[in-house]
Amino acid sequence: MIREFGKALQGLWSLAIGLGVTFRAFVRPQVTVHYPRATVDDANLRTYHGHVELIGKDDAPEVPRCISCGMCAMNCPSACLAVVKQKAPKPTPEQTKAMEEAEARGEKVKKPTAPKDPARFTYDFSLCSLCGTCVESCPVDSLRFSTELYQAGFDRNDFHFDLLARLRGQAESRPGEASTPAQGGQ
Ligand code: SF4
Ligand code: SF4
Repeated sequence: MIREFGKALQGLWSLAIGLGVTFRAFVRPQVTVHYPRATVDDANLRTYHGHVELIGKDDAPEVPRCISCGMCAMNCPSACLAVVKQKAPKPTPEQTKAMEEAEARGEKVKKPTAPKDPARFTYDFSLCSLCGTCVESCPVDSLRFSTELYQAGFDRNDFHFDLLARLRGQAESRPGEASTPAQGGQ
């Protein structure tokens, strides 16, 4: 009988400790938000490392600073990135004629060259370890970690990003941000 009474007391004591923990958490200031009803203030995300994204030019935020060198894709340990260079535009018939005439005169002919920014830039976030090698290896600071906190999807294909399309969208909605260099703690 005494043993059972002791056990009951022990159970009550354990319950009281558990309720104490719950009560303390209940009255403590809340440190999380009820997403999606609430989101975190952007000012608190400055050092958050989300997925990798492109940075736009200062004078044309919808165009990446990227020069299609491929260093980021080559150095990525998880093969997440694919960069496709643009092709040089075909000369118009007038240009072709002018070039032929210049060649005939023995002049040096300047053929049309490809724009430096890439034709395609894709990224598979489902494979990315966020190691930062691509950000560090870019010679023109065209990559940074995004502050995109709210990533959710039903399929891994939802995490295959077209970074050029993403940059264009950002430039339209937030032009100042699209061309802002990488922030704290690259
Ligand atoms: S952060 Fe690392 S794993 Fe992710 S794309 Fe860049 S180099 Fe690849
Ligand atoms: S993002 Fe940087 S490293 Fe990658 S291809 Fe463009 S210029 Fe090269």
